Amino acid sequence: MTSTALDVLRRVFGYDSFRGEQEAIISQVVDGGDALVLMPTGGGKSLCYQIPSLVREGVGVVISPLIALMQDQVDALRALGVRAGFLNSTQDYQQRREVESAFLDGELDLLYLAPERLRLESTTELLGRGKVALFAIDEAHCVSQWGHDFRPDYLALSELHERWPDIPRIALTATATKATHAEIATRLNLGDAKHFVASFDRPNIQYRIVPKNSPQKQLLELLRSEHAGDAGIVYCLSRASVEKTAEFLVQNGIPAVPYHAGLDSRTRAANQARFLREDGLVVVATIAFGMGIDKPDVRFVAHLDLPKSVEGYYQETGRAGRDGQPSTAWLAYGLQDVVQQRKMIETSEGDSAHRRRLSTHLDAMLALCETVECRRVQLLNYFGQSGEPCGNCDTCLAPPESWDGTIPAQKLLSTVYRLQNERRQKFGAGQIIDILLGKSTPKVQQHRHDELTVFGIGTELADGEWRGVVRQLLAQGLLAVEGDYGTLVLTDASSDVLGRKREVRLRREPKREPKPARTAKKTAVEMPAEAAPMFEKLRTWRGTTAKDQGVPAYVIFHDATLRQIATEQPKTLTDLGTISGVGENKLAKYGQQILDVLAE
Ligand code: ADP
Ligand code: ZN
Repeated sequence: MTSTALDVLRRVFGYDSFRGEQEAIISQVVDGGDALVLMPTGGGKSLCYQIPSLVREGVGVVISPLIALMQDQVDALRALGVRAGFLNSTQDYQQRREVESAFLDGELDLLYLAPERLRLESTTELLGRGKVALFAIDEAHCVSQWGHDFRPDYLALSELHERWPDIPRIALTATATKATHAEIATRLNLGDAKHFVASFDRPNIQYRIVPKNSPQKQLLELLRSEHAGDAGIVYCLSRASVEKTAEFLVQNGIPAVPYHAGLDSRTRAANQARFLREDGLVVVATIAFGMGIDKPDVRFVAHLDLPKSVEGYYQETGRAGRDGQPSTAWLAYGLQDVVQQRKMIETSEGDSAHRRRLSTHLDAMLALCETVECRRVQLLNYFGQSGEPCGNCDTCLAPPESWDGTIPAQKLLSTVYRLQNERRQKFGAGQIIDILLGKSTPKVQQHRHDELTVFGIGTELADGEWRGVVRQLLAQGLLAVEGDYGTLVLTDASSDVLGRKREVRLRREPKREPKPARTAKKTAVEMPAEAAPMFEKLRTWRGTTAKDQGVPAYVIFHDATLRQIATEQPKTLTDLGTISGVGENKLAKYGQQILDVLAE
């Protein structure tokens, strides 16, 4: 049995061996059992249902909410010689009829279905008349009502089992928390399923979180020095900053397009299609962008604003480096982020339990930002997994020092205390820092803050360092923000610091952003410098070919495959066929063209 699966892997997909638990998952499903698969983005979930669909008799039916991407998914499979089709609301009657009869005539290996299709009697009737090999439920976390991505149509999926008790089901998701895991199992009636939980580590992603000074300039510097010509996603919180940042990049010669819910749907679709099809385009987006984007060669994900939760951060950064090549997850984060997010929670709709939940999420995110330990270990711990310091995140590569900030914290908190209690006043961070530094600004004079006993007691730190102290006290819950102006107030925990019952550990801000050397990771295909010009030639060939066929470039070949070709320079079709990612179909279709490019 597994030899058949292995044969399909090699012949159709052109890969040598299974990754991680793929083989065990595939055996389970090929043998007719159910499976629940938790695997990070880029882990290789698709093969887990595609190969059983090819090995088992009948058609693999894949339920996926990603309607806009079905065409690309089907194109990618067809390029491999797999007979795939889809049914969703974007098609007209005639197109649907064609797919339906292909299904009934046994001319399909895989059929992608939008979840709302399953509610239609006509769909279940259709499935009943054909031969189904398995049901794959992709993005299975959409069944979770408390998760971030609930789709009501997913609840109906529990009925699949009642109707077709003998057909195996495989549910897959990249959402990792225990709660979602349990909810998927219950709601989809996967009581007898075997669970496969992969490590959520993404070793090829380098995590970096840096202090935010002038975010656009910092971003430009990152793109110019490390990601010239690369495709990537930049996330911003607001539509306005999305627009501004995209414009800024374009003005500086970096091809970029905006994406947010305020754009009309045609522009959005066009920008998304360009991102998928072109090499080296940057999308600047709100978090509305990215779900299900399976472009394998996204080389960086940059956040210019703080994500609201670790789950969100992990999902968004996870869109980088699906192909296993080195990629960067870069986040710029500053005091203003904390102030703004705390304020948003305070003024958010919903009951106090809801606000508490938001706060808990934010606290975990802040803890990740402020940690002096390995970022990756902290991320994995959050998902209940363990890890060793990774050597491929900013804190591993340039370990920050921590220092005893108890005295500065006391000075700062007592300034807030004095304003609050002696003057009945509240101020934001700027004024409080001016007082500590003893700056005689007009605003200080106006409020006679130079008469406070705390005036000028904090000259041992510079303005920027004080902002770091404020940010970290906010992150640790030792200080809070209030109201529209982001004024600072004490918390219950502040009194422990003021009463010397508690030490405050702070992280020392690195003088400049650490520029980590790119460590080649085990998954990466390394390419010697001499091979680079050939790689570029192959990329150009791929770009033209993709354009002619109206498919994304990665559907032709992945970067990793082109790199290996450029490095090994195969002379014959047989040699070319041994390269990872070159299966039978692509060899027959493109093999000679590739050899011609190499020979030029
Ligand atoms: P996921 O859906 O889990 O995000 P994909 O199924 O898109 O991941 O796979 C991620 C990438 O890894 C794809 O480019 C895929 O072709 C590649 N891949 C998957 N399995 C293997 C394997 N066994 N060997 C080599 N490459 C693989
Ligand atoms: Zn690390």
